Formats: sequence, C-alpha cells, structure tokens
Amino acid sequence: MEPSRSGEPLVVIDHVNKHFGELHVLKDITTTVGRGEVVVVIGPSGSGKSTFCRAINRLETIDSGTITIDGVPLPEEGRGLARLRADVGMVFQSFNLFAHKTVLENVTLGPRKVRQISKADADKHAMELLDRVGVANQASKMPSQLSGGQQQRVAIARVLAMDPKLILLDEPTSALDPEMISEVLDVMVQLAQDGMTMVVVTHEMGFARKAADRVLFMADGEIVEEATPEKFFTDPQSPRAKDFLSKIL
Ligand code: ADP
Ligand code: MG
Repeated sequence: MEPSRSGEPLVVIDHVNKHFGELHVLKDITTTVGRGEVVVVIGPSGSGKSTFCRAINRLETIDSGTITIDGVPLPEEGRGLARLRADVGMVFQSFNLFAHKTVLENVTLGPRKVRQISKADADKHAMELLDRVGVANQASKMPSQLSGGQQQRVAIARVLAMDPKLILLDEPTSALDPEMISEVLDVMVQLAQDGMTMVVVTHEMGFARKAADRVLFMADGEIVEEATPEKFFTDPQSPRAKDFLSKIL
C-alpha cells in the first residue's frame, strides 16, 4: 500500500446525484467506507439502496459528484472498468451463477480470464474458497443441483476468487428460504471478522448487530441517518428511521 493513501478511506463517495428520468434516486450522497469496515445499508423499498451499491461498481452511471476507490476515480469504460469489477465484487439477491458451468468453473472463470491465473492454481484456490464457504463437496455439480443457500455461498466464493478490495452484497439473503438464511449470514459474518471491507444491503438485524461497524439508513434517495448498529437500533433519531424500525422489528 502506498503510504500516501494509507490513511484514506477505501471508498470515498462525494456529493453523488443520480436520476432515472424525473426521479431523483440518489440525492447528494456523501459518505465513506474505511478499509476493513462493514457498512450495512437499510431503508424502505425504493429508497435507492440498490442504485447506491450499483453506482459503486459502476453498474449505474452517476449524474454528478465523485466516487473514488483506493484513491482512484471510477473509470468510465474499457480495461479500467474490468479491473474495477474485479476489485469490487458484487453479490446479488438472485445468485446469478453461470447456469451452464460447474460450481468449480463458476469460481475459476474470473481469475483465469481477468487475473490470468493458470488452471491448476485457479482450481486449487477455488477449492480452498469453496471449502471456506462450506460447499467444497459440491464443486463438480451444476448450480441448479444446489440449494439457494449453497448457490449464494458459491456466489460469495466466486467474488472472493478475484481477491477483491471490497464486496457489495445487495440483499443477499432476501431470495432464500428461511432455513437457508443463517448459513449465508454465517459466511458473511466470518468474512467481516476476517477483515473484508463490505457494503451490505440487508434487513437482517442480527447480522447488522453482529458484524456492522456502521448502519446507513436511506429513505427517498438520501442518507437520513448514519450510526453504529447499537445506536441506530436502540435510539434512532429521525422520524423516518423510527417509523421504518417500528415496521420491521
Ligand atoms: P431499493 O434498492 O432501495 O429498493 P432502488 O435503488 O432499486 O431502491 O430504486 C430506487 C428508485 O429508482 C425506485 O423508485 C426504483 O423504481 C427506481 N429505479 C431503479 N432502477 C431503475 C431503472 N433502471 N430505471 C428507472 N427507475 C429505476
Ligand atoms: Mg434493492
């Protein structure tokens, strides 16, 4: 790490605005994500949480403001964008595994293409990661043969295989049957404890309390409140946060 950057947050989001047509979905968003920090984003449906995440790895463009990762502004296109997507992993609600590739291939594909690692090394590393998320014994299966919880853990292993600086997880357990939620949350807690920098959109308060350093509460495209989980859940300040928590807790 260059000494000049060591004290700087990993992600700096400065006065970011985004519209979809007339709809102002991100309103002057300013925040940071420190190295090794776990930020949980919560808020009502439609408040801009997914757009916020997608803007960080440039799945969405922004209209104004800046986002820098490790001191570097988000690239517009080309090779810089591929590198960004490798550095900033994303896990979606809907797993998004490659349906026609085995579990192992799902994990090795990115490193082999983008990081240009040999098949033997990629396989070895992928098996270690599949073991870490508890699905090594599923390596030769196709994604459709796995449960939702197993597929989501493979999706996490696939992101880890790129050795990302940051992982964005957008409601990673929302599509899962209830009995599979904890196996995915356990993996996420472990990642957090291992020092991974994470931005997690979730309504899983247990996860937030256990793993989050900070909660961002979003409503109507704004960051309305920013606090430790302890503070946010026990003593929310804004009427909108109080209202939201009264509905979900
Ligand atoms: P959240 O994840 O908090 O539910 P989103 O970021 O998905 O919110 O969406 C914020 C708002 O932007 C919503 O009103 C949604 O309908 C709208 N929106 C999201 N994506 C698009 C899009 N591609 N085109 C137009 N409107 C969109
Ligand atoms: Mg969303």
